[in-house]
Amino acid sequence: MKIVMLGAPGAGKGTQAKRIAAQFGIPHISTGDIFRANIKNGTELGKKAKSFMDQGLLVPDELTVDLVIDRLGQDDCKKGYILDGFPRTIPQAEALDKALAGKGEKMDYAVDVDVPDENIISRMSGRRACTGCGATYHIVYNPSQKGDNCQVCGEALILRDDDKPETVQKRLSVYHEQTQPLIEYYQGKGILKTVDGTKNMDEVFEEILGILK
Ligand code: ADP
Ligand code: ADP
Ligand code: ZN
Repeated sequence: MKIVMLGAPGAGKGTQAKRIAAQFGIPHISTGDIFRANIKNGTELGKKAKSFMDQGLLVPDELTVDLVIDRLGQDDCKKGYILDGFPRTIPQAEALDKALAGKGEKMDYAVDVDVPDENIISRMSGRRACTGCGATYHIVYNPSQKGDNCQVCGEALILRDDDKPETVQKRLSVYHEQTQPLIEYYQGKGILKTVDGTKNMDEVFEEILGILK
């Protein structure tokens, strides 16, 4: 099963993608996580990506598309995968479809986690990310049982620089301009499924499971 997660920054794509990946035994592929790992390791890609991410802008397609297509060629992707944060532009979606078509494959579902802008700022300002394992929490909706440390690996939790309100506004406008058109793109392909992302995490997960069955 091959799934694309759509939705504004902070809509809950990552939260749901991790659960779906665990449920179906498929890899969770997050371009944001890949870029952050590159930044942490000081790679060339990380240095280039950081300058865009810090400004709330998208990393250029040239730095993003090949990275993902290569990843999808790895063995663990044979049973399918869930893409979180990719594609984020129409050219990325087209490149993905072209690469899949070349292998005689196609995307099965595009799940749009729908959350209005008004809810996004509180989602993002309360998000805490683990510097060790990448686990995500929310200070109100999903707090860590270990306070300011990760309940999985014990490392410190941080507020991502790009989750500060100034940058969130920019990311939201970038989302509306460059990423939202993907909703229509996948509707046109007949695989779009929309879920109400304002419900609690368990309810959203149940709704998605109902779609994927
Ligand atoms: P969120 O979880 O808030 O939606 P991500 O972790 O997915 O954010 O992405 C963080 C940042 O990484 C984005 O703001 C963007 O700069 C960059 N990024 C991630 N995925 C892509 C992509 N597919 N294309 C371009 N930039 C990306
Ligand atoms: P995205 O990957 O779309 O950027 P995340 O999954 O990281 O979003 O979620 C953003 C923040 O909102 C996190 O702090 C997460 O714990 C929280 N969150 C996710 N889903 C919900 C939900 N249904 N209700 C309340 N908070 C949520
Ligand atoms: Zn952790």
